[in-house]
Amino acid sequence: MLQTDTIAAIATAPGRGGVGVIRISGKDLLPFAQAISGKQPEPRMATLAGFRDEDASLIDSGLVLYFPAPHSFTGEDVIELQGHGGPAVLQRLLKRCVELGARLAEPGEFTKRAFMNDKLDLAQAESVADLIEASSEEAAKSAMRSLSGEFSSQVNTLVEGLINLRMLVEATLDFPEEDIDFLEAADAAGKLTALREHLSRLQRSAGQGRLLRDGMNVVLVGQPNVGKSSLMNQLAGDEVAIVTDIAGTTRDTLRELIHLEGIPLHLIDTAGLRDTVDTVEKIGIERTWAAVNKADLVLLLVDARNGVTAEDEEILAKLPAVPRLTVHNKIDLSEHGLSEEVRDGEWHVWLSARQGQGVDLLRQRLLHQAGWQAGEGVFMARERHLIAIQMAAEHLSLAAAAGHQIEFIAEELRLAQHQLSSITGEFTADDLLGEIFSRFCIGK
Ligand code: GDP
Ligand code: ZN
Repeated sequence: MLQTDTIAAIATAPGRGGVGVIRISGKDLLPFAQAISGKQPEPRMATLAGFRDEDASLIDSGLVLYFPAPHSFTGEDVIELQGHGGPAVLQRLLKRCVELGARLAEPGEFTKRAFMNDKLDLAQAESVADLIEASSEEAAKSAMRSLSGEFSSQVNTLVEGLINLRMLVEATLDFPEEDIDFLEAADAAGKLTALREHLSRLQRSAGQGRLLRDGMNVVLVGQPNVGKSSLMNQLAGDEVAIVTDIAGTTRDTLRELIHLEGIPLHLIDTAGLRDTVDTVEKIGIERTWAAVNKADLVLLLVDARNGVTAEDEEILAKLPAVPRLTVHNKIDLSEHGLSEEVRDGEWHVWLSARQGQGVDLLRQRLLHQAGWQAGEGVFMARERHLIAIQMAAEHLSLAAAAGHQIEFIAEELRLAQHQLSSITGEFTADDLLGEIFSRFCIGK
């Protein structure tokens, strides 16, 4: 349901800052702006004003920006009050907005209104959150590409192609005298093949985008002193992790986050998995096991002089059956030179973490394992998008295999179109929308 009541929120991050912004969206907000600032702001111009309380006492002074509908982020009237970025003053200003009839915005509600008013499609709206949450420059770039509509426009092109093909196929259903020959003349099969190829290209790029967003979970196995910390420091290199202090996120010493070419690698250290009776530690261990079970890769680190030990085998036996990469460290102390090779279908890399030799080799190997192919033009995508693309691909492959069962083909094409349209939000259930927007921060 489309709501149009007035909503307000502090749009800037919590804490102190030079400037703090309150954003308000709703219908006919000019009187609202007037009430709070005593001025009639010009559209899209900065107006300097005092923000006043009910009793006319000054709360703050700053800029009023007024964006009349429909030329605003939400498509409604939007007002931004830019004052001083202190929590107390912003709270007071927000309280004043509520007295004037606004309601506190829910997480993502501004973006949801932008979606409802056709300012953004759903994939673009999701990329707003992904841009804000981007943990690397590469992730931010790809989120921006999705926000500007590159991903959506590829999806839309495919949907259009599907619609055209459906019209052909359904025409033969409506007019049985125009039969198979008609479809052959129109090269329906060739069109279907081209659509499937385009879809599979889209699937690859979306997979890359998902990787940039979600990264890869790596379980690190290795005995004390084999060089785990040294290796992690080397891998992290001089890529600066973007660390933010968000209330409620406690640092978890059993996990590390590093980035390789912008791809987040979530490292889980099994050293923390030993048996314990300490309750606090137990909770940490349970959480670590939960993370371990979502692992994409096991990174086994051994001393090149000893190879895999019995203790390693014991831990490995408890881990999920995911691909394994074995790193033989400290080659400077062994006879083995810098190298990599496949043994029984698994990669082994020999290196020296202390000296940094071979770390690049490992980095490339990890990126390869993750499925990363360096290249421009990756756009941000989510698991939800990948699933829809996969389902669409399956419907198209059923259609391609259906031979002369025209009705069956028509139905599969319709289902494929439905899946793709769900990406941009053309057919989307309300509860899915609620779920997507509830993960946004407040004020966005
Ligand atoms: P962790 O306990 O597995 O985290 O191991 P550390 O990274 O703390 O390393 C243990 C010791 O091994 C330290 O003294 C490191 O300097 C040393 N070390 C790590 N990597 C190498 C290496 O490639 N060659 C040599 N010679 N020593 C290393
Ligand atoms: Zn990074």
